[in-house]
Amino acid sequence: MRSELPQELLSAIARHWGFRELRPLQTDAMRAALAGRDSLVVLPTGGGKSLCYQAPALVRGGLTVVVSPLIALMKDQVDGLARNGIAAVRLDSSLTTDQWNTAIAAIRSGETRLAFVSPERLVNTATHQLLLAAGANAIAIDEAHCISHWGHDFRPEYRMLARLREFFPGAAVHAFTATATEQVRTDIAAQLNLYDPEILVGNFDRPNLTYRVLPQTDVISQIRDVLDRHRNEAGIVYCLRRADVDATTDALRRANYKAVPYHAGMSTEDRKRSHDAFSDESADIVVATIAFGMGIDRSNVRFVIHACVPQSIEHYQQETGRAGRDGLPSECVLMFSLADVMALKRIKEKSATEANVPPEQLQATKQQLEIMARYASGAVCRHRALVNHFGQNYDKPNCGACDICLGDTEDVPEATLLAQKILSCVARVKEGFGANHVIDVLRGASTEAIRSRGHDSLSTYGLLRTMEKPELRDYVFQLVGQGALSQSEGQYPVLQLTPTSWAIMKGQQTVKLIQRATPSTARPEKGTLPADSDPELFEVLRQLRRQNAIRLSVPPYQIFTDATLAEFARVRPTTPDRMRLVSGVGDVKLRDFGDAFLKTIANFARERGLATDLNPSREARSSSPPSAKISAAKQMSFALFRDGAAIEDVLHRTKLTRATLADHLAEFILRDKPESIFHWVPEAVCERVAAAAEQLGTGRLKPIFLALNEEVDYESIRIVIAFLESRKAL
Ligand code: ADP
Ligand code: ZN
Repeated sequence: MRSELPQELLSAIARHWGFRELRPLQTDAMRAALAGRDSLVVLPTGGGKSLCYQAPALVRGGLTVVVSPLIALMKDQVDGLARNGIAAVRLDSSLTTDQWNTAIAAIRSGETRLAFVSPERLVNTATHQLLLAAGANAIAIDEAHCISHWGHDFRPEYRMLARLREFFPGAAVHAFTATATEQVRTDIAAQLNLYDPEILVGNFDRPNLTYRVLPQTDVISQIRDVLDRHRNEAGIVYCLRRADVDATTDALRRANYKAVPYHAGMSTEDRKRSHDAFSDESADIVVATIAFGMGIDRSNVRFVIHACVPQSIEHYQQETGRAGRDGLPSECVLMFSLADVMALKRIKEKSATEANVPPEQLQATKQQLEIMARYASGAVCRHRALVNHFGQNYDKPNCGACDICLGDTEDVPEATLLAQKILSCVARVKEGFGANHVIDVLRGASTEAIRSRGHDSLSTYGLLRTMEKPELRDYVFQLVGQGALSQSEGQYPVLQLTPTSWAIMKGQQTVKLIQRATPSTARPEKGTLPADSDPELFEVLRQLRRQNAIRLSVPPYQIFTDATLAEFARVRPTTPDRMRLVSGVGDVKLRDFGDAFLKTIANFARERGLATDLNPSREARSSSPPSAKISAAKQMSFALFRDGAAIEDVLHRTKLTRATLADHLAEFILRDKPESIFHWVPEAVCERVAAAAEQLGTGRLKPIFLALNEEVDYESIRIVIAFLESRKAL
């Protein structure tokens, strides 16, 4: 842990949360909080924002007020804090008079130093006077982008926060958001009147998420493919409309999946039932509309499926960000169709008219959707594309965690020629027809529409006769997504040519198209658990957690997160002291649950003859935590590599997993550009990989892995490719 923070704070974090290491930005954010300096902290979902305002509140004198947009989110945080032995209260419209009075008493007596307040309550005169009298000197604003029109989730009640300064003249204001576009950031600072704020922007990459985009075909069976790779794990399925949510939930239930619906058309009661079923783990899957997903959360979400297009990259980042908040590998699959894009545009237009939304705002909304569609149709690494969107660089040549880099997709041979055929057909039908008709002409179909217009005598008729319709459709929309073709607005969209189309037809520009390598057999390359964590013990511990959760009626993750259980299953502590060393075990949790878990672990280890009390890793996460700077673990690996330490040595000293270490080494090679890598990968192996890479390119690892008869592991391939890239750059 960095030493600049007062010991009192670090001890409080260790005692209550059981965290022994802070992520770099957390340290900076807490330093600003303790100094009473305004701040704007931008971290992706799962980046650990809540600790940044919760922990300082315990050691700084006075009261910290937290503003949050949803009652469910506030309740969740207050309950979670209680589990860690911290008294916090919330003030919102759902409280009974008794509850309200109890909360007020706790604030007045100074028994609590954290009050969660809804924005409309905060600006209420009686409330803010009460809070002021109780010594409110810091205001933390969660989901601060809700204040901005430019954000993707504007909430009118957040506008009232512009008057915060008036109400709390001496207090420091700390804004937190996961939305990083410059415009929104500037707007937040202006709206909240932040004074000389410390602006902290974290790394937007979420290395533990594997992203995939599939062309939408049979949605239900595509969803089931994903569910079947994640049996008994938690996930979210996003749909476009309420009716899609209901139909999808029904279909999944009929197939015996434990799914619950969640959308704005349900009664509050029904919605609460779904919410509770998902958070107490009696349901695995929640099916929600993209317009209404915010109140649902659980730290061990292992997959997020978009069965329709997200509204923007920001939405996508936030919605997929719900996966893997505990840092364990998780999967995000988007089933993309341009028809959804058109439908969503119409929905937006309709609601804009109804709500009198200014035309420029509607235009901005549509543009965000266009950018999303382009992402989905793109053929570059998904991690890179996302990180670039948020204005950051991505320096790994291969992420090892997206459909493009994992080799789920292959480049279509002679893509430019194929594109030229499609574009010529659009030109031949005089840019007056939709995708279906153009595809029919290209495939030489004999429809009434074709015969009546004489399109069966066009030179492009039947030019792509051998191609299946869905495949061809996919290519057409990849072209639209890349701007090589455009689709008109309105109810009957037609395909039109763009300047890029002409450049392609004239052979001045080439095109890249991708196809699925093996559609439904693609499997995530990483298991959910860290390699050395015992999966059976993990399951046993999950059951134990569930029993306790039911007994206490709390969500299981409030007892221990999956990351902590996974670490138990790896380290297998048998004494309270050893258990206390695992990240996520604070004093109160040890007291409440220590015995039961210790007993179960000891029995399991004895029966199976497993070693116990191994050394815990610094943070119970399988992948490096998000941070803009180099993490301590990485610095250590880098230093060892620089000394020429062998991989086994570094593994032993750092306790990292092999995959993470390969990541570190690849990054080290790119940064330091060492002369040789032969002491990490034998020369003969390097040569084989280099020869294969020359033929197959360095974009994807899988083709190389296959070309070398699966004899060279992915880690070594990765390291050699990094070396080749580092030479290129010289
Ligand atoms: P955000 O609010 O940014 O979406 P959270 O505050 O919910 O993120 O944190 C995400 C997860 O990371 C939680 O499970 C939390 O317990 C965990 N976490 C946060 N900080 C640390 C830390 N320093 N060490 C280990 N785990 C952490
Ligand atoms: Zn990638």
